[in-house]
Amino acid sequence: MPLTYPRPSLLREIADNCGTPVMIYDEDALRQTMREYTGSFKSEMFETSVLYASKAFLCKAMAKAALEEGLHFDAVSGGEIYCLAGAGVPAEKIHFHGNNKTPREIEEFFRMGRGHIIVDNCDELTLVIETAERMASPMDIIIRVNPGVEAHTHEYIATATKDSKFGISIDREDEIRRMIEAAENCPHLSFKGFHSHIGSQILEVEAFAAEIRVMFDFVDRVQQQWGVEVEELDLGGGFAISYTEKDNPPATEEVCSRIIALCEEEITRRKLDIRRLMIEPGRSIAGDAGYTLYTAGCRKMTDSKSFIFVDGGMADNIRPALYNAEYTCRNITRDNAKADRTYALAGKCCESGDILIKEARLPETFPGDLILVHSTGAYGYSMASNYNRLPRPAVVFTSGESYRTVIRRETYEDMMTLDVE
Ligand SMILES: *Cc1c(COP(=O)(O)O)cnc(C)c1O
Repeated sequence: MPLTYPRPSLLREIADNCGTPVMIYDEDALRQTMREYTGSFKSEMFETSVLYASKAFLCKAMAKAALEEGLHFDAVSGGEIYCLAGAGVPAEKIHFHGNNKTPREIEEFFRMGRGHIIVDNCDELTLVIETAERMASPMDIIIRVNPGVEAHTHEYIATATKDSKFGISIDREDEIRRMIEAAENCPHLSFKGFHSHIGSQILEVEAFAAEIRVMFDFVDRVQQQWGVEVEELDLGGGFAISYTEKDNPPATEEVCSRIIALCEEEITRRKLDIRRLMIEPGRSIAGDAGYTLYTAGCRKMTDSKSFIFVDGGMADNIRPALYNAEYTCRNITRDNAKADRTYALAGKCCESGDILIKEARLPETFPGDLILVHSTGAYGYSMASNYNRLPRPAVVFTSGESYRTVIRRETYEDMMTLDVE
């Protein structure tokens, strides 16, 4: 369980002024993690970039903080790119991902400048080539391959099995070779290298070691047999955080230095010319710096369960309902009381599966108490919906003893602005 969390008096002040549910990010912790990444993902042998995977959580304030800390960005849609551009992120710091980029998204990205497109499949490459020729604009190209390494993680989150919807299986060498040739035949495109991403919430560094072995073996073959120069390699994200005491992720510095050491070793042994190495942490930057603060409402006893209902739920955090994600929480109003009860912490949405924590350890809890759920910073707000017409919460950044609102709470009027009747 994360040891630190914002001071209860600050949390009460935020609840009083911003209402609940509210998402709270410790901006100092966010920046600290970003610095751990940029500080330890470094080599004398090649250039390195840490790409923040925007899909974990994105708003202008988040993009600005990451930009100031020297990060680059992984974006998966025109909407994310629009937000990044609005925060002042230039195209050269954006890597455009996704398995089905639309012609419009591709064109808009070209218009923004020269960045990286991570090409997912052959049809997409055709679209990218057509766009590059029509607009006569340059773009760097990376091909997403699927190394077939399966990280130990929840099966719904795994992406690297051979029939994944993402990337091209590393075994389909003819297809990959034709793609590289097609990209190199287009005068506006520059083929840079390969990308792979083996999963999420990966707790064992060994999974990354396996990915590195497979990827370097592949790069070596490509270079030796096809005479293609591979300058860049992106190893993706998936670094784990601690949601409950069951998760014991390795420290950021440990993961980064291990990855760097393994890559330096491969490059030296195989005499390769990799000039730039990238990783794409999302969850491990935004996840445990984020919290959701709820107000407890009604309670209910059944024969075997005690429920506490909170004023949010699956609309602001779909992860427990979507893939049984586990969280821990605390009662901020009774922060000094012993957590000697077990409750089912349930949301207010009309779904039986809307239970945030099945067995939450809390002190005896009363209506009106403030409940803080830990480590909700990644894939919480970014997956939030208006299910049951619940307005999305406000998002607040704290720093030291102060806080500021970075996304205001949605209002009923906000939701109605899209209705045209
Ligand atoms: C989702 C994703 C990431 C980030 O994953 P985390 O588990 O949040 O670190 C990075 N790269 C790609 C391609 C992704 O799809």
